[in-house]
Amino acid sequence: VSNNHYVLLFNCKCPKLFQTHSILADRYTYCKRSLLFFGILIQCITPLHTIIFMIYFDTESDSESFPFLFVDNCFIEEKNLMNIQEQIEQNIITAIKGGLGEALVEKLFRKKILISGGAGFLGSWFCKVAIAHGAEVLCVDPLVASTKANIKNLIEHPNFTFVNQSIETVDLPQRPADMVVHMASIASPPLYQQLPKTTYSAGVKGTERLLEYCSNHNSTFLFTSTSEVYGNPADDDIPTSEDCASRVHSYGVRACYDISKMTGETLCYMYKDEVDSRIARIFNTYGPGIDTKSTSQYGRALIKFIVQALHNAPITIYGTGQQTRSFCYITDQLVGLYKLLLVDNVDGPVNIGNDNEITILELAQTIKEVAQSDSEIELDAQPAYDLTHDPNRRCPDLRKAGKIFDYTPQVPLEYGLKETIEWTRANELAVV
Ligand code: UDP
Repeated sequence: VSNNHYVLLFNCKCPKLFQTHSILADRYTYCKRSLLFFGILIQCITPLHTIIFMIYFDTESDSESFPFLFVDNCFIEEKNLMNIQEQIEQNIITAIKGGLGEALVEKLFRKKILISGGAGFLGSWFCKVAIAHGAEVLCVDPLVASTKANIKNLIEHPNFTFVNQSIETVDLPQRPADMVVHMASIASPPLYQQLPKTTYSAGVKGTERLLEYCSNHNSTFLFTSTSEVYGNPADDDIPTSEDCASRVHSYGVRACYDISKMTGETLCYMYKDEVDSRIARIFNTYGPGIDTKSTSQYGRALIKFIVQALHNAPITIYGTGQQTRSFCYITDQLVGLYKLLLVDNVDGPVNIGNDNEITILELAQTIKEVAQSDSEIELDAQPAYDLTHDPNRRCPDLRKAGKIFDYTPQVPLEYGLKETIEWTRANELAVV
């Protein structure tokens, strides 16, 4: 403007993103505060000089001159996408460490752990936590319901080995593992309905093979079972405790998954004099990285709704949306699984999840709100798979886990959804 006056222009490329994205919003506020401080400092040193700060919003200009990705009229710095996911990953590892406490975390140091299904959603977080605490991990995964992208940051780690094969056929290591964690499974109803034999085989043959291995090598065994073993519990059995009798159909579209998990539990019982087995009955779990086939029809309800909300597409509810589930955030689930594996003297199956039961309609509304989406909620949407025997209600009784290893889920749905949505938003932006 003149020799003594300067105008600093700040081009804010994506106001909407700054507003809706909490991490970026924090940085934006930090940036504004720094500028103010800088301005006051200059004024103090040279009062004759005036600096005018201008922040202008620009969603029209082309992106060539800036190191930005252009997505749906939004600009986002490529590096920020990574930072967002790194930050969320760090939050998760820190929360799990805090939930477990030093004494349990130390039990992982230098332990050899064989993890089947280690490239899946739950499995990959399990691997990351083990590696972060000094364990040596052999991850076996055929990448049927998972992707190598989940473990991309682990591949180069000297304590991590990945074998792309199914647990039923892989050569099991000669060296004894201290712990074996069997997570290989297809939990998504549309996907296991397409791959019933693979699903059944992982739960039955895979479990039997690993129990034999544990018996020969004196390894502790963690079997990840499911709330599906309860089938469709009566209202009187909600919340559902471990001794509740099963109401599973042995002949039907969900049987390949449900019966294979029930058989896996029976196998643990059959080997109980030879193998120290821990059985987790996992209830619906979600978090960053959930089901990377999320944009297809294979995604489970929660991640499908998130992707639909991010694209402002209709959120597809099957039926009235009055069926319920209880959604557990990944940190609470992993704290439960690790405690179950690492504490002494556990007998029989243990429910792990969150006991906050909500309807699927409430889930859709919450996702829409947290994602600040304009999506419509579509009731009675056309199902993408066979809904026969879809359970009406699902909610865990967590008293057994509470009694044995002081388990109480900590994470409210809104927080877990916010983290999952931010992670997914970054993925979606990076993919476009
Ligand atoms: N569901 C829905 N819309 C979808 C996908 C699923 O309303 O696009 C419903 C499904 O019928 C079930 C609930 O959401 O009642 C939870 O489904 P999820 O995919 O999480 O699998 P499940 O909990 O049954 O294993």
